[in-house]
Amino acid sequence: MRKKGTERPHTGLYDQHFVKGAYFCAACGLELFKSDSKFDAGCGWPSFSIPSAEKHITKNKDFTFGMVRTEVVCSRCGGHLGHVFNDGPPPTGLRYCINSESLTFKSEEQLKLEKKAKTSDSTPTSGE
Ligand SMILES: [Zn+2]
Repeated sequence: MRKKGTERPHTGLYDQHFVKGAYFCAACGLELFKSDSKFDAGCGWPSFSIPSAEKHITKNKDFTFGMVRTEVVCSRCGGHLGHVFNDGPPPTGLRYCINSESLTFKSEEQLKLEKKAKTSDSTPTSGE
């Protein structure tokens, strides 16, 4: 079991993935990042400068390996996503370094289709 494990760099599905769309929590489907905020940090993991919504992300201090790092987890399900560092690009100066396996990507087209399906459905939906 490697619940809190970090995948090996440059192996993740979304490391070099620059398609327009959004990234969702692989565990619960909460939207976490937009493709606009993704950048190539060269670190080998998908990197984002800003989350879709600050409240979708919870930051915990992580003292493992004798370093002080900030772990980021999904605010809804508490799933481990990765870490946030202070060497990102402006304006946030933050780099969210996220495991590909913690994310599910949906392209802009996929999202449009889903939206269409939702709006054409007259019954009110409760989120999911
Ligand atoms: Zn989640």
